[in-house]
Amino acid sequence: MNTASILGVQFHAVTKQQAVELAMSKIRSRQKGYVVTPNPEIVDLCRHDEKFMGVVNHATLVLPDGIGIIYAAKILGEKLHGKVAGIEFAESLVAAMAKENMRLYLLGAKPGVAEKAGANLCAKYPGLVLAGTHDGYFSDPQEVVDSINAAGGADVVFVCLGAPKQELWMEKNGPATGARLLCGLGGSLDIFSGTTERAPKFWSDHGLEWLYRLCREPRRIGRMMKLPLFLVHVRQEKGKRK
Ligand code: UDP
Repeated sequence: MNTASILGVQFHAVTKQQAVELAMSKIRSRQKGYVVTPNPEIVDLCRHDEKFMGVVNHATLVLPDGIGIIYAAKILGEKLHGKVAGIEFAESLVAAMAKENMRLYLLGAKPGVAEKAGANLCAKYPGLVLAGTHDGYFSDPQEVVDSINAAGGADVVFVCLGAPKQELWMEKNGPATGARLLCGLGGSLDIFSGTTERAPKFWSDHGLEWLYRLCREPRRIGRMMKLPLFLVHVRQEKGKRK
C-alpha cells in the first residue's frame, strides 16, 4: 500500500472503497488490528508525542480525515486519493458488514448515545448484528473489555472516545477484546445517533465542514486555530525537504 508522509504520520493512499475492502478482507481472514483517522489535530498530537506517533503509525489503516490533510499532502507533493472521512468510512464498513451478518460493538460518547446510534444503524442496514454498547465515560478500561467479551465478542468495535484516548485504548486493550478490527472514530456516534448533525453535503464537498462545525459549536475555535498553525508546520517541512 502506498503511503504519504505528513509530518511523520504515514497515511495510506486509498479511496474509501479500497479502505472498506481492505478492512473487510482483514476481518474475514481473522487478522487483528485497528484503524485510525487522523485529522490535523491528531497529526499535531503525534508531533509532540513520539509514543503516540508510534501508536498511530502502527495501525492497519491510517486514513486521511479532513481537508487539512489533503492540503498538506498537496503542499508536500505526497500522493493521496482524496479525503476519507472517518464517519463515511464507518458507514460504508457497516453496510458491508451487514451483508455478512457481522457483529458490531459501539464504544463511546455520553450515556444513551451508543444505543441510539446502534438502533439507527441496525434499522438502516438490516443484517447487521449489534453485539453491544458502552458509553465513553468509564474509569476502568477492563470493564469495557469484559463487557465486549460478555456480549459474546464482536467482529468490529467502533471506539469513539476522542483523540488521543481512543487510539491509546485500541492499542492497549484491542487484543484482549478478541475483536478483529477496532476503528477510532471521534464524534461519529453523536452523528449516527442524531445527537449532532453532520455538515450538509455542499459544505463537506467544498472542504468547508470545519466552518460548518465552527458555526454550530463556536467553542471549537481554540481547536480550530490549530489548523493554520498545522499548515505553517507543513510549509516548514516542505522547506526542509527541498
Ligand atoms: N468522549 C468519550 N469519552 C471521553 C471523552 C470524549 O466518549 O472521555 C466522546 C465525546 O462524548 C464525543 C467524542 O468522544 O462523542 C469526541 O468527539 P469530538 O467531537 O472531540 O471528536 P472529533 O470527531 O472532533 O474527532
